[in-house]
Formats: sequence, C-alpha cells, structure tokens
Amino acid sequence: MIKLPDKYYQVCEWEVIEKDFNPQRARISESVFCLANEFCGIRGYFEEGYSADHLLGSYFNCQYENMDIPHDQLFKGVVTRGNFMPNSVDWLYTRIFIDDEQLDLARSKFSDFTRVLDLKSGILTREYIWHTRSGKDIKVAFERFLNMHQLNMGCQKITVESLNFSGEITVRSGMDFGILHEIAEGWSQIERKDDAYVPRGKCLWEVIKTGTVDELFAIEAHTLDSKIPHVSCCKVAAENENGRLPFTEDRAFGIEVKLSLTQNKPASVEKLAVNHWEEKATPESVWNNGLKLAEQCNTTSYAAERKKHLAWWEKTWNIIDIKIEGDPELQQGARFSQFHFYSNYLGNSDKLNIPCKGLTAEVYYGWIFWDTETYCIPAYLFMNPGAVRKLLQFRYDRLEQAKSRAAELGCKGARYPFCTIDGNESCGTWQHGDLEIHVGVAVSYAIWLYDKIIGDKDFIHKQGVEMLIEISRYFAGRGEYSPKTGEYGIYGVMGPDEYHMMVNNNCYTNVMAKKTLEYTASVLADMRRNDLGACEAVFAKTNLQETEITDWKIKAEKMRIPYDRDRDIYEQHDGYFDLPEVDVKNIPPEDIPIYNSWPYIKIFRYNMIKQPDFLLLPFFFSQDYAQETKLKNFIYYEERCIHESSLSPGIHSIFAAEFDKMQMAYDFFVYMARLDLDNYNRNAQQGLHVTSMSGCWLNIVNGFAGMRTDAEVLIFNPKIPPKWKSYQFKIVYKGSLVAISIDKENVYFKIESGDPVELKVYGDVVTVDKKGKLFALSKADA
Ligand code: BGC
Repeated sequence: MIKLPDKYYQVCEWEVIEKDFNPQRARISESVFCLANEFCGIRGYFEEGYSADHLLGSYFNCQYENMDIPHDQLFKGVVTRGNFMPNSVDWLYTRIFIDDEQLDLARSKFSDFTRVLDLKSGILTREYIWHTRSGKDIKVAFERFLNMHQLNMGCQKITVESLNFSGEITVRSGMDFGILHEIAEGWSQIERKDDAYVPRGKCLWEVIKTGTVDELFAIEAHTLDSKIPHVSCCKVAAENENGRLPFTEDRAFGIEVKLSLTQNKPASVEKLAVNHWEEKATPESVWNNGLKLAEQCNTTSYAAERKKHLAWWEKTWNIIDIKIEGDPELQQGARFSQFHFYSNYLGNSDKLNIPCKGLTAEVYYGWIFWDTETYCIPAYLFMNPGAVRKLLQFRYDRLEQAKSRAAELGCKGARYPFCTIDGNESCGTWQHGDLEIHVGVAVSYAIWLYDKIIGDKDFIHKQGVEMLIEISRYFAGRGEYSPKTGEYGIYGVMGPDEYHMMVNNNCYTNVMAKKTLEYTASVLADMRRNDLGACEAVFAKTNLQETEITDWKIKAEKMRIPYDRDRDIYEQHDGYFDLPEVDVKNIPPEDIPIYNSWPYIKIFRYNMIKQPDFLLLPFFFSQDYAQETKLKNFIYYEERCIHESSLSPGIHSIFAAEFDKMQMAYDFFVYMARLDLDNYNRNAQQGLHVTSMSGCWLNIVNGFAGMRTDAEVLIFNPKIPPKWKSYQFKIVYKGSLVAISIDKENVYFKIESGDPVELKVYGDVVTVDKKGKLFALSKADA
C-alpha cells in the first residue's frame, strides 16, 4: 500500500492531545476531535468563533435537505433529485468579549493551547491563555460532551479565570442556525479578501420562531426545501454572574451573561442544550415537543449529566475496549477507532443509521451505503446485537422505496439504493447508482448473519422474510439465461470494485445472489414447517407464488460463477482475466489517489482493482472454500488491489493473518487503526471514515483472533503480531459476555457474564464458562 502517515497528535493510550494549535490543520483537527452520540454529531470547532479557515459542522443523523442533481442529458431512471444531511444548528454558539475585544483565535493573542479528546469519557476539552490588547491575561477553558445518557442533550462548560486583574467579562451563549453548508457550493469554499477570510457556502435554514419559557431559550427553524422543523433550546447557568440579557443576532438567539472576575478565581458558564426535530410534523408540534423535552434542563445540572454520561462510557468500554500491550500507537489507534465507530451509532433508534462519514462532515452527503450491512453489522453483532435489529428495521422501513426504484428501472422486487437517507436513490452518478446492485445482497447477507448468530425468528419471519422475497424477486428478474451456456447470469453491473464499470457476471454479486435465492427459499420452507401463520401472512402480503420459489431454486443452481478450474482462481467478472496488467505496487506515490490522476477511462481498462470484491466471499463464507483456494485467490487479488477505498485494507489484513503473513496483516492493521489519526488518505479534513473504522474491530477479532461466523459453531484461530505482548477484547455472544485474551504463549477464553457458550478453538469444539479455558497459542511465522 502506497500510503504514508502524517503524524501530529501525541501518543497516549486513552487520549488524543493537540499541543499548540496549528491553523493549517484546523479542519483535520476538527474532524479528529469530533463527538457523536447517534442522534447528532459535532465537529471539534472553536465554539467561541474563529474567523480563519475551518469547517463549523453540526449534524443530525438522517436529517435531510433536498437537492437537484443536474445532468446534461436525461435517460430514463437517472436520478435527478436526492437528499443530503445539512449542516444544522450551532448549539455551542458562544462569543466572549472584554474591553471591546472579541475572543477569536484567528486574531487574538494566545499561548499554552491544548486540546484533548478523552476517549474514556467522551469529553472534549480545550484551554489556553488569552492575552488581550489591554494587557489582561485570561485562562479560558472549554469542555463539551454529547450526552450518552440523554441523546437529545449536548452539554458545554466554559471557565474563565483572570490571571492578572479584576473586572467584568461578557459571555454570549445561545444557538445559531446561520451556519453555512459548504458542499452546496463546492469544496473550495474559503477565499482571502482584504485580509479577511470569507467563508463560502449556503445557509440552509430559515428561522421561524424564537421564544423563552422561564429560563429556557428556544429557536426554531426549518430547512429551506425539505421544510424539516428543528427546535434548539438551552438553559445557561453561570457562576459569579453580574446580570444577563437576551440577545438576537441574525439567525442566533440566546443570552448574554456578565461575569465578575477576580484574580485566580475561575468563573464558569454551563449550558445544557436540547435539540429536537421531526421529519413529518408541523412547526407548532415540533416547537411544543422540543420545549417539553427541554424541561428536563430545569431538573438537572451539568454536573449531574456529566456523571451519568461517564457511567455510560464506563459500561460501554467494558464491552467494546480493545487492549493492546506493547504497541502504544496502535493501542491509541484501536481506541480512537472504536470510540468514533461506536459513538456514531448506538443502536437506540431504527430511524437512524451510519452514514459512511458518520456525523463528522458534509462530504458523502450523510449518505448510508452498503458499508452498514457489510462492514458495520458484522462488528455490531458482537458488541451490541440489538443495534443490528434496528439497522435491519431501517432497511425494512424503506422497502417501499426500494420496490418503487426497481419498478422505475423495469425490474421486479426491491432494488436497494446505492446511497440514501430517506430510502430513495440519491446517487446521480449512474454507473454507481444504477450498476452497483450489490447493496440488495448486502442487506440479505446481513439478515442471514443476524439469523445465524442471533436466531431472532420473530424478526426474520416478519420483516426479514419480506425483504428477502423482494430482493430475491429483483435478482431473479435482473438476470438472463445465457443463450450459449444456459447458465443464469447477471449482466451490466458494477461489483464492489468500482474500478470496473458495467461488467457481466461479477462473481461476488452472482454468488451473493445465489445465496440470497437459496436462503429465501430455505427461510420460507422453515416457516412452512414451524410458523405457518407467519408463512401464510407473508405469502398473502407479497402475493408470492410457488412458481417463483421454484424459479429461484433453478436460477440459484444455474447461476454463473466465473472460475478458472486449472488455476483455482475465481474470475472477478467475465473477461477480467483478459484485461491488461498494471503493476499496482510500482505506481508512483504522486499518482495516488489514482482517481485524481488517472482519467476514468484509463482506470477502467486494466485489471487493477480498487477494493476487495471476490475476496469478500471467502471472508463471509469461509467454510465454502478450501484453504489453498483462499490463499491462491488472496495472493492473486492482493497483487492487483490498490486499496483506494478505506474499506479495503482491513479485509486484506484478515486474510494475511489467516495465512500467517503477520507483517502484512500488521501493516494493513496500522492503516485501519490510525487511518484518520495519522491522516493516511490526506482527507481527514473532510471528516472521519466512520464505517471503515469498523475495520479495526474486524482486524482484531476476525483477523488476528481468526473469528469466523459461518460455521455451526463460532470459530477462533488466534495469532499475535510479533510486536505485541498481548491483546484483549470481549464479544457478546448468545447473550453472554465472553472475554478473550491472547499473549505470546496462551489464549484464554472466559465468560464474564451469562451462560457457558460453545466455541471452536484451533479446530476443537469446547465449552467456555466462567472458570475460563486456556489454550497454547498456535505460532505463526512472522
Ligand atoms: C467505496 C464504496 C463505499 C463508499 C462509501 C467508496 O469509495 O468504493 O464501496 O460504499 O465509498 O464508503
């Protein structure tokens, strides 16, 4: 992989620390210091206002604004309208004034700057000393967290301390709907004009109402086109207060508090902010519901909420932590990845999902991709299985849109969108939007895996089976029989590897479609035997015919799977083996990322691949492929993969570990664990690769510990990278919490809570209980 780290933050096991603010890295740090709690996300921006280049970002999961997607020429089915997640309200809005000077780190003199993200507590702090023009030195400290206990509440504390004077300071605190959304105007938004930075972009909010109820301040606005009403409320408590007055400023509203300062006596302002929005509601009801929710601020305090928030993180880390001994950089990387991955989706709501950039920025438009089912669900299943049901319900709730899209494209059944928020296809780039049909089989794979690991028949027999029927209908209708061979093929697709457009019989898609057709038939057969009522109900609801099931079985059997028997290599798609070679490992680093330096038409004509395509199959279905077949295919595709999707290296790390290529597995893991922390892709300023961060968990659990999920019993074949002394993690499995610890000599499994479970370790089926089980580590070559 031709990627190099850009190291900047201090290495600590539980913290990310920035010393001495570097304005050139303002956007990168805003991403790295993001916070999220599933409901909303906030970039690590300076809430006191900052007039140089930065991206002030505040996002609400699945909130959306509409957009037109222009095309030169319109063909049937091309998407012309989509939606995206708008930059929303700045509920941290603060301005600080003294002696007619406004604090602004782009203009003010300051020293001793430190910013710290404490991963253990999910609290972001920042402090520095402000040296005012009038000679005053003021220590300013900020603390913020997104309440994990009360998701609609964000909390902020600002402490100011005079170091050399007594006097008064003014703190303005409120909510601002005037934030500019940058992507609406393109990505080069900042221009220097007459020594002032002028941020470009568009404000997507129109303020409808402001008001106060007792000590609560509220402002309501709606998006310009989708008209989604959003109310933001806050309560501000202050220490050493010397009077307060409401303020209104453009689209901002709140309170201005005067604080008396005496030397070395800190004074603080604490804000509890409650946000509420509803997709289909009147502004009146959102206003009323928002204020009702905000009433909780009257009966609690910053300190009380902080305590509950810390307790939540302590409980959560007890399940999700990955401990690595002997490698501080990767220890930090693993915790950083787990922190952001997990906090962007907690599994509380089936109305929400995991945009590929999480709630950390505007690129990728807040869209949900197949990443959720393929890369996130396999990790969530063993950390928070309840979250998986919610994520599947999210797809179920958008089944009607997927059916309409299939019909629009002249197909039967359901065609899940390549990227979406509201369930409709938002991708206007037709080669992705139209050709990447593998999202449907990602959904059916996730249902299959959920069924296998959790066995939630209630969901499978109601929502799950209905989705499976419609996805099967789509794949049974989307293909054709080859007039030459009689095989059933799926023509004109793009597989997961986006560097081959419009191919026939993408091996991955065909195998996944085959599995979907077979699995749907088997679920229906099982329901017929064990849950006749539900079976009859779904037949009636979907108007399913017996002949369709027969057709699915035949098509599954006759599905074309491109495979070279002599070499034992699966062909990524028909004709792939005939493509000219490119020496991927010797592409000059200045050509990376390749999509910026090579025209599409050059990328598409070689056998270079962007990301794992076929290789996903032996990972999902490891029992279906012989070891030597997996190894041959891994070596073959690894040589041709350029890893231009951040989803990519993690899968290769898993195979490298399986085949004892521990240095290679380790190198890929370094990238997965420190992807954004070390800005490997040089695009961390555009937000975090949240769905790819699942790769860190997958590399530890499926990679080094060798967990496989497709056999009758959960399989483990643990190994350890030579550099590490030990590593530890836990999984939730069959309702029990299983702790796994691996060092240079031993592997130890132990039930921490719940009943004993059966596992297959190094080929032997064993029962693990609270007493634990010790195995000698199987040694891999370094
Ligand atoms: C990848 C896709 C992925 C998308 C969002 C693209 O670069 O090729 O597989 O779904 O990013 O993460």
